Amino acid sequence: MFLDHTSRGPALIDRHGRRIDYLRISITDLCNLRCFYCMPRQGVTKLPQADILTYEEFLKVARIAAGLGVRKMRITGGEPLIKRGAVKLVREIAAFPGVQTVAMTTNGTRLEKYAEVLKAAGLSRINVSLDSLRPDVYKRITRGGDLSAVLRGIDRAIEYNFRIKLNTVLINGMNADEVYRFIDFARDKGVEVRFIERMSFEDPDPYVPQDHVVATLADRYSLTPLPTASGSPHVRAFDCDGVRVGFISPRSHPFCDGCNKLRLTPNGKLKACLSSELNVDLRYILRRPHCDADIARAMSKAIALKPATGPWTACAEMWRVGG
Ligand code: SAM
Ligand code: SF4
Repeated sequence: MFLDHTSRGPALIDRHGRRIDYLRISITDLCNLRCFYCMPRQGVTKLPQADILTYEEFLKVARIAAGLGVRKMRITGGEPLIKRGAVKLVREIAAFPGVQTVAMTTNGTRLEKYAEVLKAAGLSRINVSLDSLRPDVYKRITRGGDLSAVLRGIDRAIEYNFRIKLNTVLINGMNADEVYRFIDFARDKGVEVRFIERMSFEDPDPYVPQDHVVATLADRYSLTPLPTASGSPHVRAFDCDGVRVGFISPRSHPFCDGCNKLRLTPNGKLKACLSSELNVDLRYILRRPHCDADIARAMSKAIALKPATGPWTACAEMWRVGG
């Protein structure tokens, strides 16, 4: 990794020439849903409270990352909106010099309550995870979730002019037949929909491949490929009769070439690759006498661990890493 200085300011470049300008911060490992593909059936062990970074520690990492050239931050979890202080974190991160975008990935169950304050805090984009538009299927996938609360949350976020993307993981035999319904819903609400291939290495055929979904859509709509958005090199996008549809397809169309991300887990591990176990323990440094340069050096170390392509041999603990 080296720190380059371009006309746009400092830039983190990894040893494969990729510019790293996006940090995803998972602020909690707790969630109020139990999506079956995210959380293991047998449940999960909560991280001890003392291991979770404090509010100040999250902020310090974000501030130093911004100083090194990270321009986009995403707050995720677990469910970020069940964590006390989430809105305050957004507000403070959005105010750091260099930060251009603060986004959030949420299951939407608490958006109705928080959309207004999140807007005032400076959040600009929201990804809402929504796997079914049928209440019974939604309940099955999330192991008990209430679809109507999420729909109300989406409406409230629309009211506050958020740029919204729906994240939908398609699963055969559950929601894979709802592709058209999602397009109609997205058109009706004026939002974007993104179909994500399920990451799991346990079932024999766990995911619905992008090409299958594209072919299904092409049966009914006219699809035009769109240029890749600069901040989202991992998303292949189409215009689908006026609806922007994105595909995140780690299984069938791996996207490591343009990967621009770092991920911070709630307990302070900085991961440079979702599919790799390798990480740098920032909490260890944060809780000993240190200066900003020590954290910056640790970030460089994490970036040096970023492989050209992920091993994809195991599924990350998504509820902890934050997707
Ligand atoms: N709770 C929030 C939510 O659901 O949006 C944020 C955390 S969640 C882990 C972030 C994203 O990861 C969600 O869109 C979810 O669908 C996705 N995800 C979780 N497990 C996954 C898996 N096994 N394969 C693909 N995506 C997954
Ligand atoms: Fe919770 Fe999000 Fe995982 Fe569902 S996908 S269990 S909402 S963390």
